Amino acid sequence: MQHQPGPLLRQAAVPTPADAASATQLAGFDAVRALLVATGLPAEPAVYDVLWRHVEGEAPELSLAITAALAAGDLTLATLMTLREAHLGALSEASVKQLIAEAHGQAEALGRRIASGQNDLADYGRAIADGGERLAGPLDATGLAGLLEQLGEATATIQAANSRLIGELAEAAAESRALADRLHQAERAAVTDALTGVMNRRGLMLALAGAQAEAEASGAALSVAVVDIDHFKRFNDRFGHAMGDDVLCFVARHLADRLEQEGGSVGRLGGEEFVGLLPGVPVHAAAGRIDRIRAELTGQLLRSAVDGSSMGRISFSAGVAEHRPGFSAERLIERADGALYTAKRLGRDRVVPDRG
Ligand code: GH3
Ligand code: MG
Ligand code: MG
Repeated sequence: MQHQPGPLLRQAAVPTPADAASATQLAGFDAVRALLVATGLPAEPAVYDVLWRHVEGEAPELSLAITAALAAGDLTLATLMTLREAHLGALSEASVKQLIAEAHGQAEALGRRIASGQNDLADYGRAIADGGERLAGPLDATGLAGLLEQLGEATATIQAANSRLIGELAEAAAESRALADRLHQAERAAVTDALTGVMNRRGLMLALAGAQAEAEASGAALSVAVVDIDHFKRFNDRFGHAMGDDVLCFVARHLADRLEQEGGSVGRLGGEEFVGLLPGVPVHAAAGRIDRIRAELTGQLLRSAVDGSSMGRISFSAGVAEHRPGFSAERLIERADGALYTAKRLGRDRVVPDRG
């Protein structure tokens, strides 16, 4: 699919200067700036990153979604971050590909350095052999002095080549450590929710599949809780999206701190929905734990960090289901989601276990 620039991108087009590369970059920069101005999005690195990839046409699906959101006048920070989340796979795949290409480049450069070190060694070997041959024949004092000088020079050359190689190897080792760090970061980013720092949907589904396989192998229980913040739209409408984002982070941390203490984990399914994984815990005990976490959250009065004003209380509803042999990750989440629906229907701010 080809990336179709929206009207804002066309409006941002600039005349082509002589230098084509910088002209393209300048046009990209202007296009991003025009988008920031038109949408009122904050000029944060994460926002800039997504918009830049959009105007560069790096991820056509992402561009289509952004163009559609722009046309609907709905390119909010939340939408943009959700799109970023949804298209992160493709993006990080691209960056992982780039990292792998860099690693190949490094390996080849290292190979060339080692080959040149081998050439130096071969030269040295030849010089020694030649010296040996000359020593075997008749040699006067001048000849011996010349031979020693020649061998001394060859030794100095190989020493210089060795220390150059040692320096280059140390440099290559540092480069490969830096590369490994970046690969690790890319791996983490691919499974982490950019806003809240808990697992994203992909990370969550991977962790859930792993937990299911473990539960089946060990015969231990495994419960999942689908948690949905109550009346979150109202909160956003009243206090703004930025405050809403803060609350998402707060709830994510609240869930993560408590679940991780007991060997569980949490991920963001999307929007204001989270999933808790509780390995080793049967459904009723899991519902009890989630309910205590809910009560603790509802018991807190939220205050604005800016002016200390009260923003009331926030609650969530949750549905909890237990893994059964043969359940797929989707099936288990669906069951918990069914129980969540019941919790909402019964009046919210409660936890309902799946009856199946
Ligand atoms: P309910 O109790 O039935 O769950 O009501 P609700 O308002 O929480 O549910 P609804 O599905 O109607 O609205 C969800 C809201 O969550 C709407 C959307 O703007 C908001 N939202 C989703 N993702 C984000 C985000 O990343 N940041 C912010 N601030 N809001 C978000
Ligand atoms: Mg929801
Ligand atoms: Mg909700």
